[in-house]
Amino acid sequence: MKRKRCSECKELKPLSEFYTHKQMKDGRLNKCKSCKKKSATRRQAELTRKARAYDQAKKDRGESMWRCERCKNPISMAYCKGANSFPPKLCGDCETRAIREKMQACILPAESHRK
Ligand SMILES: [Zn+2]
Ligand SMILES: [Zn+2]
Repeated sequence: MKRKRCSECKELKPLSEFYTHKQMKDGRLNKCKSCKKKSATRRQAELTRKARAYDQAKKDRGESMWRCERCKNPISMAYCKGANSFPPKLCGDCETRAIREKMQACILPAESHRK
């Protein structure tokens, strides 16, 4: 009986243990059925986790009463809790940008003065 090594568990298994796959050279997937199932379960878990995180993010946005003054995006509750000012005026991204701009504004006149 023809055997094939699974790329995942490295075990030699009969071809019947591999799903068929047209694009593969030998017409079979390089992962055995049980590994394929395992990775499918893992992917499913990952998708569920992502969906949950997305739901949470949506909830966070819904709960937020503040919007960023610059980009008008709602500021997440999670960010509000960690923000320097309360209520926060800017979202995390704009805050970072504002700090950078402020720093540049401080540096530039000093440099032009020196010249
Ligand atoms: Zn395997
Ligand atoms: Zn913003």
